[in-house]
Amino acid sequence: MVNLIIFGAPGSGKGTYASRLKEHLNVEVVATGDIFRDMMKGGSPLGEKVKSYVEKGLLVPDDITLEVLKRSLAKIPNGKGFVLDGYPRTIEQAKALDEIAKIDAIIHLVVPVWIIIERLSSRRICKNCGAIYNLLFLKPKSNMVCDRCGGPLYQRSDDTPEVIKKRIEVYEKQTQPLLEYYKEKRVPFVEVKCEKIETTPDIIVQEILKRLKGLRLA
Ligand code: AMP
Repeated sequence: MVNLIIFGAPGSGKGTYASRLKEHLNVEVVATGDIFRDMMKGGSPLGEKVKSYVEKGLLVPDDITLEVLKRSLAKIPNGKGFVLDGYPRTIEQAKALDEIAKIDAIIHLVVPVWIIIERLSSRRICKNCGAIYNLLFLKPKSNMVCDRCGGPLYQRSDDTPEVIKKRIEVYEKQTQPLLEYYKEKRVPFVEVKCEKIETTPDIIVQEILKRLKGLRLA
C-alpha cells in the first residue's frame, strides 16, 4: 500500500498523471478540485460558497477542505492507498493530513510557466467522465466529444488567462512552502521535469513509476 501526494502548479499535469498512476498502483485518486467542482454543480448553499472561491482562483477555506478530504479518505477500501491531487495546499492542511495518514512519497512536477499557460488555455474536460484533453497535444479523436464515453467536452470556468495567472500566483505563494515542509520531514521526493510541451503523459508516468520502483514503492 502506498500513499502519495502529487504536487505541481495548476496545469502541470497532476490530474492526468494521477489517473494514469491509478492503473499501475493499488491506489484511489483523491482530487479536491474535482470534488469541489461536483459540489458546485449541485447548487447547494455549500456549493455556492465553494464556487465563490474557486471562480476567483482563491483557496477554499481549510475547514470545508478538510471535511471534504476526510470524507473521501474514509471511503477508500482497507489495504488500498491513495494519490492526493490538489491537497494539501497550505501548511495547516498538511498538518491536518499528518494526523490522518502517513505519506510515503511526494511526486513533484516541475513545469515552466509558459507551458502551463499554453496547456490550461487549451485544456478541455469531459462533462461525463472527467477525462482530460488538450486541443494542442492530447486531442480528442472527434471535436469536443470524449473518446472514452462520448460525453461533451467543456472548458473549466477557471481556465481563463486572468484566473490562470492568479492560480499560479496562489500556488507559488502558498504551496511552495509545502515542499520545504515535506523535505524537512524527510519524506522521499520524486521530482520530474517536463520542459517540452509535446512530451506525452506516458513518458512522464513511466518516469514516475521507475523512480517509485527505485524507492520500492511500486
Ligand atoms: P484544482 O482542480 O486542483 O486546480 O483546484 C481548482 C480549485 O479548487 C482551486 O483553484 C481552489 O479554488 C479549489 N481547491 C482545490 N483543492 C483545494 C485545497 N486543497 N484547498 C483549498 N482550495 C482548493
